[in-house]
Amino acid sequence: MSTRELARKLDALEIIYSDSKPKRITQPFDYLLVLDFEATCWSSTDSKKHPAEIIEFPVVLYDVKNDKIIAEFQQYVMPVENPKLSDFCTELTGIQQKQVDNGVPLQTCLNQFSRWISEKMRLYDMGFPNDDNQRSKTCAFVTWSDWDLGTCLRKECNRKNIRIEKMFRKWIDIRALFKRFIRRPFVGLSGALAELGLTFEGTEHCGLHDARNTARLVGKMVDKGVVLQLTRR
Ligand code: AMP
Ligand code: MG
Ligand code: MG
Repeated sequence: MSTRELARKLDALEIIYSDSKPKRITQPFDYLLVLDFEATCWSSTDSKKHPAEIIEFPVVLYDVKNDKIIAEFQQYVMPVENPKLSDFCTELTGIQQKQVDNGVPLQTCLNQFSRWISEKMRLYDMGFPNDDNQRSKTCAFVTWSDWDLGTCLRKECNRKNIRIEKMFRKWIDIRALFKRFIRRPFVGLSGALAELGLTFEGTEHCGLHDARNTARLVGKMVDKGVVLQLTRR
């Protein structure tokens, strides 16, 4: 007798079905652009207090319905205000001086990203909501806290007189949604993953790995029924 037949006989069909992977509820966005910058930094005991410059610009494109990363963008960026990385920064992020020396200026990186996202938007027929586009699918940025887009990029672009594209002005702070959902203390992204039975894969503070793991956390939150809404407009 098949498991299903047995279940029907025992009137347990519903229980068996509820044990299978939950059906994902409809979400406001079809695709998410999970972003996690790494920037120049100094230890808290260092007397130097410089503004942060982005040194790694990674974004993963996450397909919500299929729970899958479908594309990745990564570029190392050359800091110009403080070109030399502190030992603390290299230690924390794993990013080597050579990688940023061979990186591109922030404006070039933003142009490259613009081209990348335009290509993906055509490919997947997606656009940002209320963006005057005729695209059938929607997307939004996701970051762990407001720091990446609300502080780091905004301040650096202001200092360097770089125009910030409209798309970077709205995002989902997944940390805020996670706090609201879990209502228990947790420490950092790895602590959040642990709360949902996941372990961080790769190296923490590597921007690309942080972004991939943030996407994994998002996936688990979607499974648990969290609705992913913009937190910053
Ligand atoms: P994260 O996404 O957590 O890897 O952090 C992003 C950036 O924040 C890093 O690249 C650093 O510039 C800065 N940062 C993170 N943690 C620290 C820390 N413990 N001390 C100083 N700066 C930090
Ligand atoms: Mg981060
Ligand atoms: Mg990071």
